[in-house]
Amino acid sequence: MHIALLSRNRNLYSSRRLIEAAEQRGHTIRVVNTLRCYMNIASHRPSIHYKGEELETFDAVIPRIGSSVTFYGCAVLRQFEMMGTYVLNDSVGITRSRDKLRSLQLLSRKGLGLPVTGFAHSPDDIPDLIRMVGGAPLVIKLLEGTQGIGVVLAETVQAAESVIQAFMGLHANIMVQEYIREAKGADLRCFVVGDKVVAAMRRQAAEGEFRSNLHRGGTAHTIRITPEERSTAIRAARAMGLQVAGVDLLRSHHGPVIMEVNSSPGLEGIETTTGRDVAGLIIDHLEKHAAPVQKVPPRP
Ligand code: ADP
Ligand code: GLU
Repeated sequence: MHIALLSRNRNLYSSRRLIEAAEQRGHTIRVVNTLRCYMNIASHRPSIHYKGEELETFDAVIPRIGSSVTFYGCAVLRQFEMMGTYVLNDSVGITRSRDKLRSLQLLSRKGLGLPVTGFAHSPDDIPDLIRMVGGAPLVIKLLEGTQGIGVVLAETVQAAESVIQAFMGLHANIMVQEYIREAKGADLRCFVVGDKVVAAMRRQAAEGEFRSNLHRGGTAHTIRITPEERSTAIRAARAMGLQVAGVDLLRSHHGPVIMEVNSSPGLEGIETTTGRDVAGLIIDHLEKHAAPVQKVPPRP
């Protein structure tokens, strides 16, 4: 196969591993800088241009679109979709995953376990919003946050009210969530490829911290997940329409609850923690699902 890796940086661990895994399996792979792709959307024959030339035809695209370039990255990916190229995760799935509220609404429709979560616009509704999620302590989240930034634990109703007022005053979109104390600062990252969880790790928050993100000083260990956790992760990825996803779960008294579904999950943490060749499993999945593009023979 001839594969495009849509990424802004070929030197990141995840990019390097995907290149290595593809080449090991005899494929060719080209790193295409998402932000350097441009296209004529009005043309009858959709195409993508890149640094002055038309991009060649690929059998498959692996999108690695960072959250800061979701809008442009998904537009580029959509163009590949219009050209009939197989994409590992599609633009709709990625767009969904970048909006926490939209994701939770979709997952709840599928009956998946979630923390009790509220959303409101007007400061007048704050007291009732807090009551709705069961009072303090509670977690307040910026909808556009990543890596644990913009996730706040409010211990008292007074603290919750003032933090929510402050965010609303800044016109930030937030949601309010029941605090899952029994998770004890740990979450589970389940790495889904196709219809399998291919690797899982438990991340534990640093001392005195409730957010388990590795970027916030958390530590990771490999873990055996339960059948219920496994099926929750797989169903979550499927509900989002993602072939490859990092599904984060908390262990709550009412079973596994979903924190978020990541559509460009990093490979470094999961591979170094579990020792699994996740990049290889992603390429294996592509081999099974991307039908090689039929090359039209030149006219005689
Ligand atoms: P981000 O997308 O920024 O990583 P998350 O919603 O995943 O934000 O929250 C970051 C971390 O904070 C989670 O991995 C979890 O450890 C902790 N956390 C978030 N929400 C809750 C909650 N409702 N109860 C307990 N811990 C939470
Ligand atoms: N930093 C990568 C991302 O934003 C990976 C984060 C993660 O897997 O939690 O996609």
